[in-house]
Amino acid sequence: MQKVGILGGGQLARMLALAGIPRGLGFLVMDGAADACAGEVAPLLTAGWDDREALQRLAAEVDVATFDFENVPAEAAEFLAGRTRVHPNPRALAISQDRLSEKTLFGEIGLPVPPFAAVDDRAGLDDALARIGLPAVLKTRRFGYDGKGQAVLRGPGDADAAWARLGGHPLILEGFVPFTREVSVVAVRSPGGEFRHYPLTRNWHVDGILSASLAPVPGIDALERQAAAHARALAERLDYVGTFALELFEHEGRLLGNEMAPRVHNSGHWTIEGAVCSQFENHLRAVLDLPLGDTAARGSSVMLNWIGALPDARAVLATPGAHWHDYGKSARPDRKVGHATVCADGPGALAERLAALGHALGRGAQVAPVVAALLAAAAP
Ligand code: AMP
Repeated sequence: MQKVGILGGGQLARMLALAGIPRGLGFLVMDGAADACAGEVAPLLTAGWDDREALQRLAAEVDVATFDFENVPAEAAEFLAGRTRVHPNPRALAISQDRLSEKTLFGEIGLPVPPFAAVDDRAGLDDALARIGLPAVLKTRRFGYDGKGQAVLRGPGDADAAWARLGGHPLILEGFVPFTREVSVVAVRSPGGEFRHYPLTRNWHVDGILSASLAPVPGIDALERQAAAHARALAERLDYVGTFALELFEHEGRLLGNEMAPRVHNSGHWTIEGAVCSQFENHLRAVLDLPLGDTAARGSSVMLNWIGALPDARAVLATPGAHWHDYGKSARPDRKVGHATVCADGPGALAERLAALGHALGRGAQVAPVVAALLAAAAP
């Protein structure tokens, strides 16, 4: 039996294991938390990233190591890479851990980005604001996710408050993009350089956290071709192996790069039921150097995230085409505890199912923008 080591034991590791177990794969998950939710479906090694003995043990037991969490320290990834196969490679991980190196790389591969500047001190923030202008977004360069470690600056008076909150960390200031849509491309690359991408996904965020994803997006073929070309260039530049996501803003008809995730991604959860081969199975196929699976969509899908607490499972289960996912995590504000994917043959039928589900759950606000996009697409 081939065995995959996963650093990080959250829902992504859990869904990777759930994709691999029926294919005969074994797993060993490493996480600092003894109650990490992947531990319910796979053996869990409870240890910190600096525990060399645990890393050594993982390396000895597995055929390949991979990540459910991009902020694993570069030293831990390098240590493992000296002892077993590691995909994606530690360099890809390191670049995507730092928003400054990530945006610099995007520019180098020809992916346009919002104007940005490094900010290291309070005077540096004023310099960056003078160059970039307002509105702007100040972000921590590292360890930011789900909108954490960010402040939007709308007027000159906002600089002090943003600095008071985020100052002391290496920062980046970006121009605020008044985007028309947020989209992401989830793609996968094999060690031999084979590249496949899923249909472009449209995403809606609330307070910086993904709320809903729709794929495929009707009438978006030209943007999808652009996004896929950027994703391929990025993967080739990084010699990337595995699944990854590239998050983009659509602004004035073109795409701007926001960030990449060097792992399976929340905006690809719909692929479990909505694509021929899921992002999770394709990640495993890639890191094990097996033939990649078909990334085509089966009909139309919408993924709804459950943040903080789960809604009524019965209402989801009673909806035709709906699939319920509970990560087995305790409820906590801002925590991703599960999701549902609603599938249908096309945008019109999906809009109907989604509107009914939103009503049944009392979550009209979460589904409304997605229903509106589907109805616009389905209109003659
Ligand atoms: P991030 O952690 O960079 O993905 O940011 C989380 C969310 O904040 C994004 O999905 C956007 O909705 C929003 N956001 C981040 N950066 C910008 C920006 N430069 N302009 C406008 N919105 C942004």
